[in-house]
Amino acid sequence: MERRQFIERTLAASAAFGAATSVAQAAAAPQPGASAAASPPSPPPPTGELISGGGGGTSYQLPVTVERRREGKPHRGKVLAAIQPHCDDIPIYAGGTVLKLLDEGYEGILITMTDDSMAGTGRLHGEIAARNEQETLEVARRMGLKQSIFLNYPNHNMDAWPVVEMRARLVFLFRAFKVDTVLTYDPSGLYERNPDHYVGAKAVESACWMARSAWDYPEHLAAGLQPHGPADKYYFSRGPQLVNRVVDIGDFMDQKVWVNLANVTQGPAGNSGVNLRARLAAEGKRLPLLDGTDEQANRAYAKEFALARDRQRAVAYGLQYAEYFHYSPPDESAVDAYVRANAVRL
Ligand SMILES: [Zn+2]
Repeated sequence: MERRQFIERTLAASAAFGAATSVAQAAAAPQPGASAAASPPSPPPPTGELISGGGGGTSYQLPVTVERRREGKPHRGKVLAAIQPHCDDIPIYAGGTVLKLLDEGYEGILITMTDDSMAGTGRLHGEIAARNEQETLEVARRMGLKQSIFLNYPNHNMDAWPVVEMRARLVFLFRAFKVDTVLTYDPSGLYERNPDHYVGAKAVESACWMARSAWDYPEHLAAGLQPHGPADKYYFSRGPQLVNRVVDIGDFMDQKVWVNLANVTQGPAGNSGVNLRARLAAEGKRLPLLDGTDEQANRAYAKEFALARDRQRAVAYGLQYAEYFHYSPPDESAVDAYVRANAVRL
């Protein structure tokens, strides 16, 4: 498909997101005036590519849905888990979407998988880890997440750790907190150089699936937990990815910037505005962008440079700020859909 045509179809689909309509579903809808055929009507093909039987799709070109802010609290009663290897991952790639989903009624927890001892400023690894841990608590507070959990795997070395052990801990957390939705790195990790990003994501992906099984980790059930796993997933990536969900974060951008300023020890925002202003002043220069208070300088820097990706990614969709995801919807049974559409009374 020509790129322009694809974008046009994408935008047409995005306008209808309130009804959760995608291009694939729209294409499968019955046409007005179509004559009744001998065969019964088939329901729209499932959109999730993980379904047994599925829609038969193997394309790398996916229909894109633009997810816009929803009024009210449509997600009241649901729980999300924002899962990151390092303290700045969720704030950078999914901070706006987490804020949006919480605004729409979700409650949430933040799970940080490494000890964050290898990235940031400080004299010792322990000092770096302690600063990052403290700032992660502040990130959770600024986002409005009710709890922050640290799994403390070795930073930059998660590929030396058994995925099965990580999975077991995640399954426990998903069941204990009754997590419905996760946001984390894309497990495909195409061209990703940091092993923590894709190893952690692979553990999350398998844990989402197994947490719902009554046969996996039966000791949890004996201890009083129920099988319960996240039904849908938002995967983000810093590199190439099968993007099928673009989230409009325009209303939440300023709050996302505030969240990112909490990561001072590592992360691209923090005090970077103040630091750049001081460096330029020492050289006898001034950037009007960085005028004002320290916080104003840091906010301006974060918006212009550290989070420039959100502005650039929004352009193709006519938005101001956007985050990209590969979104996996809840599994949908083709049999159930067919029965709903075609079953008759005995
Ligand atoms: Zn990271």
